[in-house]
Amino acid sequence: MTQRLKGKIALVTGASRGIGRAIAIALGREGAKVALTYHHKQEEAESVAAYVRSQGGEALCLQGDVSRSRDVQGFLQAVTQQWGALDILVNNAGILQLKAFAEITEEDWDTMMAVDLKSVFLSSQAAWPLLKERRGVIVNLSSVGGQTGGAMSPHYAAAKAAVISLTRSLSKIMAKDGIRVNAIAPGYIRTDMFKEIAATQEPESAVRAKVPLGTVGRPQDVADAVVYLASSESAYVTGQVVNVNGGVYFG
Ligand code: NDP
Repeated sequence: MTQRLKGKIALVTGASRGIGRAIAIALGREGAKVALTYHHKQEEAESVAAYVRSQGGEALCLQGDVSRSRDVQGFLQAVTQQWGALDILVNNAGILQLKAFAEITEEDWDTMMAVDLKSVFLSSQAAWPLLKERRGVIVNLSSVGGQTGGAMSPHYAAAKAAVISLTRSLSKIMAKDGIRVNAIAPGYIRTDMFKEIAATQEPESAVRAKVPLGTVGRPQDVADAVVYLASSESAYVTGQVVNVNGGVYFG
């Protein structure tokens, strides 16, 4: 089978678990060399890298906090040292704090904005010169919550809405360099983040009843959309939000 991303070099943030893990594996399977970052879960990240290598791919594991510019610069330096270029940046790392509006502290707000939003600014700006050289792509992870707002975790929804706005702005700013910038807005996807929602907010049966396709999504469903947005199959697509949500719309 032809590999759609042969010869490409990718950086995926937050790839130790969940959606990022599936993205790193999918990009590796399609022939890209993959740098995957993690924050605390080194063992998990190393095992994702080992899996990519066992499939015949190349992988690099990098530790750091996506909300710190020094760490983000470090990711890019490591990638250029190892492979000399970058074609695909996937801003996936994120956190969710399940809190009602009245419970959100100033610190919670700042942390949410730093990890889920500032990180996208930092890595996109730092990667821009590299992506320019290769007419690369950026894929940002938003959320259906960023489109609809949410009664729970409004700070998360606000950060994810801003990711969509930043995606659209960057698509205009970077188009002249041949760089495409798109976002994916997942619905309910089975990861640690979803487990927390199912355990404390909405049992899985309630989620299934709400989703028109009747199931919780798989990380692979999101990874498939990333592969599409990273490949030449989406050559005329930029500034868009791809909804991977089983048809759910929670307002
Ligand atoms: P998980 O909680 O399963 O994994 C989060 C990942 O992000 C981990 O790799 C974690 O690293 C990393 N991470 C968290 N904080 C930081 C930080 N400060 N610096 C660097 N890395 C960090 O998340 P999901 O896979 O569920 O979500 C991935 C993305 O998709 C997120 O942006 C999320 O908001 C979005 N999304 C998810 C949905 C879902 O239903 N799961 C729905 C809609 C959007 P470590 O393992 O080392 O802690």
